[in-house]
Amino acid sequence: MRYEDFYQRSIDDPEGFWAEQARAIHWHVPPRAILEYGDPPFRKWFAGGTTNLCHNAVDRHLDARGDQLALVAISSETGETREITYRELHDEVNVFAAMIRSLGVGRGDRVVIYMPNMAEAVFAMLACARIGAVHSVVFGGFAAHNLALRIDDARPKLLVCADAGMRGGKVIPYKPLVDAACEKARHPPAHVLVVSRGLAPEPAWVPGRDIDHAALRAEFRDARVAVEWMESNEPSYLLYTSGTTGKPKGVQRDVGGYAVALALSMWAIYDVRAGQVMFSTSDVGWAVGHSYNVYGPLIAGATSILYEGLPTHPDPGVWWSICEKYGVRTMFSSPTGIRVLKKQDAAWLRKHDLSVLQWLFLAGEPLDEPTAHWITEGIGKTIIDNYWQTETGWPVLSLMPGVDMKPVKFGSPGLPMPGYRIRVIDEGSGEDVAPGEKGVLVIEPPLPPGCLTTVWGDDARFMASYFSHFKERLYSSLDWAIRDEDGYAFILGRTDDVINVAGHRLGTREVEESCSTHPDVAEAAVVGVRDALKGQVPVVFATLKTAGEDVAGTAEAIRAQVGRQLGAIARPARVYVVGALPKTRSGKLLRRSLQALAEERDPGDLSTLDDPGALEEVRRALGRGADAGG
Ligand code: ATP
Ligand code: MG
Repeated sequence: MRYEDFYQRSIDDPEGFWAEQARAIHWHVPPRAILEYGDPPFRKWFAGGTTNLCHNAVDRHLDARGDQLALVAISSETGETREITYRELHDEVNVFAAMIRSLGVGRGDRVVIYMPNMAEAVFAMLACARIGAVHSVVFGGFAAHNLALRIDDARPKLLVCADAGMRGGKVIPYKPLVDAACEKARHPPAHVLVVSRGLAPEPAWVPGRDIDHAALRAEFRDARVAVEWMESNEPSYLLYTSGTTGKPKGVQRDVGGYAVALALSMWAIYDVRAGQVMFSTSDVGWAVGHSYNVYGPLIAGATSILYEGLPTHPDPGVWWSICEKYGVRTMFSSPTGIRVLKKQDAAWLRKHDLSVLQWLFLAGEPLDEPTAHWITEGIGKTIIDNYWQTETGWPVLSLMPGVDMKPVKFGSPGLPMPGYRIRVIDEGSGEDVAPGEKGVLVIEPPLPPGCLTTVWGDDARFMASYFSHFKERLYSSLDWAIRDEDGYAFILGRTDDVINVAGHRLGTREVEESCSTHPDVAEAAVVGVRDALKGQVPVVFATLKTAGEDVAGTAEAIRAQVGRQLGAIARPARVYVVGALPKTRSGKLLRRSLQALAEERDPGDLSTLDDPGALEEVRRALGRGADAGG
């Protein structure tokens, strides 16, 4: 089928389209209506239908593929690999469900999960889904303060944690962070269930609150727990946005719509079907981890690979060796992950047999062209940039090799995915802009299945954050975009990242792309910095591919190049060459912190910062003065 026809059908006849897609999952009670839209922009997909995410991800596959691998959890940190079949997964999830039920958790109760990429994190998520509890996985890189904020918002009955995570061989104890967070929180959980891998020294134990996972597990060895049938629109989980742009919001996901959207995306977008293997390098704590390490592949009856560790350990070929060993068909990673590999010898990309691998999807941040070319040539596979948000739960923009593979256009995450009525509109007038012109990327409601249903406990914030930006009630992505004549979209950065130079509005992404085309630049971050004369001026922080001799000369060349490509108004006022850029653990640039430092303000909340050294470098560079002034 042609992409155009498939997509258009989802727009012209959404109820017919989604009714068909809904057949891919098991319904205990079929929906009474495909879409109820009486109270826009709130909508109910598959209203009245009852189903269960765990049943669809696990139980449903037992007959046909009980002995097939469901989950392979590989840790290059501990050196352990666990290969788990669907039958074993079913056993583990039942036991886990019995355990958490014994701790008083039931339908609608929240459970915070604070764990690294280990099999028990998946068991815990699926166990919650099984009994209708609402999980909220908090990324293990978050510090006690962030964890406490999320605890107070979600008010969990139970917190499940690991004794420790590991990164680059270094043990990061989690339990003390959990203790500190529970101390700080006003609504701490009644119980903390600790899964110990024996990595950290025996932590302090809070009697009555803390429960040892191994001991409790022994009590429920052969337990079976019936599936709780959930109305399609009940909450399945909360996922707090990473908070790059402010206080985290509890993105609330439903049950039925999410399952249907994932089922569709697995074959149509990711081109993975039952029996095939998908490897996402994401952390379970991110949206990609929820959708494409846990629920998506399992709902599809595929094998999911979960990886704990660095892309470069034990060697920079580790991802490709996993692809070879397990016959990975589709891989999913981030531009940051690829940039890490780009610093290594490209020969690592060719050491393993990748004949089964078909597609490498990258998402989460802009994919710059040089990186896209490097990896495309390096592994000789098609790279598919896809754009989505924690809020949407699955891609808004991508290509669909499972339906009809359209040509890749470098720099673009592609075309709208089924059900997404996207528009690019003028920020001021709210009118659609012409092809090739810049505007805000918006989605016309109702949002398709799978997207957030609200912000946890705060419908008003849901409205204010996403639906209050334009006269018409449109969902604002808060990202700038351009669509070309063929309908391909290009993302130009966040609307709050705009630089206003003497009344001219520049997207940070445009300037960064321009910097990246300089042959010496590895990566560039651009921020708007206050300027008495012009309001703001673009300031660049760049990392170089090799420690060049003439840093000042390179900085000057970057300025000149941007000026040539984008016009004098965009020419960076200053270019600072640094060894590393400050990023979050999920690989997103901390632009607000960079901007604050450049304006001699407090850099703000840095608890998600990956490498404190990077920030120190920025401070040093700023203190030293610009490498190229002007
Ligand atoms: P917060 O909303 O709390 O500030 P966040 O937006 O960083 O956090 P995510 O939902 O993980 O959290 O990120 C979604 C954003 O990432 C998008 O809005 C967009 O800015 C960027 N993004 C994701 N994928 C792509 C892509 N393929 N190309 C360009 N940008 C992308
Ligand atoms: Mg966001």
